[in-house]
Amino acid sequence: MDIGGAAPCNSTINMSIFKKGSKAYSIFGMKCPKCHEEDLFDTGAFSFSKPFDMKDACPHCGQDFMPEPGFYFGAMFISYIFTAWFCILFVLFLHWVLGWSTAASFGALIAVCAIFFVYIFRLARSIWLNINFKYDPEKAKA
Ligand SMILES: [Zn+2]
Repeated sequence: MDIGGAAPCNSTINMSIFKKGSKAYSIFGMKCPKCHEEDLFDTGAFSFSKPFDMKDACPHCGQDFMPEPGFYFGAMFISYIFTAWFCILFVLFLHWVLGWSTAASFGALIAVCAIFFVYIFRLARSIWLNINFKYDPEKAKA
């Protein structure tokens, strides 16, 4: 919530594409797609505590984060497509560009996937919510 005309002073990168109200802000900041005020998850993506626990609804605007059973089925496809392309490009890069052996390339891939697994899972849900719900400036104020 902004008070008066004072410029918001937080650690968020102040580029217009990542500003509050843009899809990128909500997706990469993992904020509620409707009001952009509340986080979707209680814990950080790299804290590895409660990695898959999501809030049921937005405490700020009341947006339901589980509007229907199987809602996140679509998010699975996003994370699948994203992960598949990432794996292919990552291994090809290590093997062909850096000249790593096949075994080393795949070993590195598994390590990287293990670290980013939770992040990709959450990012896919965040993208999926943003496909289905639009930012509502009125809800942000309320
Ligand atoms: Zn909200």
